[in-house]
Amino acid sequence: MNCSSQEVCRVLQQYDHILLTAHVSPDGDAIGSLLALGYWLTQEGRQAVMVIDDDIDDKFSFLEGIDQIRKPADIVTDASWLTVILDATSPNRTGGVTDLIKGKILNIDHHISNDHFADWEYIRPDFAATGEILTDLFTGWKASISPAMADALYMAVATDCGFFKFSNTTGNTLRMAAVLVDCGARPNCISEHLEAQSMVKLHALSEVLRHIELFDDKHVAGITFTPEVLKYTGEHTGSYIDYARNVKGVDVAFTVKYISAQETRVSLRSKTVDVNAIAAVFGGGGHVRAAGCTIYEPLLTAKKMVVKEIIGHK
Ligand code: 5GP
Ligand code: MN
Ligand code: MN
Repeated sequence: MNCSSQEVCRVLQQYDHILLTAHVSPDGDAIGSLLALGYWLTQEGRQAVMVIDDDIDDKFSFLEGIDQIRKPADIVTDASWLTVILDATSPNRTGGVTDLIKGKILNIDHHISNDHFADWEYIRPDFAATGEILTDLFTGWKASISPAMADALYMAVATDCGFFKFSNTTGNTLRMAAVLVDCGARPNCISEHLEAQSMVKLHALSEVLRHIELFDDKHVAGITFTPEVLKYTGEHTGSYIDYARNVKGVDVAFTVKYISAQETRVSLRSKTVDVNAIAAVFGGGGHVRAAGCTIYEPLLTAKKMVVKEIIGHK
């Protein structure tokens, strides 16, 4: 059960050593939330260590403090450390960070599929982003939000609601964004950095776009990241799915990505269908309109399974 906002503050004040983490394949919300809470705890004189068990996309390199995010192998913890898991539904979603978790856990998250595993949890599926929850908490605590925190939180909120275009954008999302801009967040600078594309990336995009496949009378669009395609896109393929989602008439978009001969990573987006339910069939989760899972089958088998499940849910 959710603890109160004041209790979240009390728990954070109570620990001398705090490990901050978020999910693997970190997106804007994971990175922005991690940095913002990291800055604030440091500002409050706490010992906070940020860790993510994955590579971080270069597009986030403009953010202050991004170079302070560590890999699990660089860190030693003990049972006296508090772990704060941000934007993730279960410890497993943090990858190898699980080995560093020896004490209590505080989970701040907005996924509907949350596993309710933590000692203290603050879970708000009605919020568009974990960054929106943090902004709301900081505001409630009357905490000072520095310009660097504001930039990180604005990026977290904006990326998870498609820059205020997705159906998870609420009045509160916009109010929190306004608070962040008043605290020094720079919307223009953030979108410029996130949208900047190298020519290599643009060429990769044109190739990917040519290979979007349509299914189910053009209501479903999919992109398949074979090892050959991954050679020119690189590993950070998270943004391509929006192009499939934007095809006129498409309700559900998916990507399937080769991880290994027996492992396929799946992302799902929709305009009306509950893709959290589809991801849950394969042991994944997320939100009603954006979810993901891993299928331990070869790429093309996994693709067939996903298409069948999508069509079955419509
Ligand atoms: P993405 O497609 O961007 O990887 O993920 C979409 C949403 O679903 C994100 O909010 C992400 O955290 C969540 N998600 C992705 N994969 C999984 C998964 O395997 N398990 C769970 N529980 N959530 C996931
Ligand atoms: Mn996320
Ligand atoms: Mn999120």
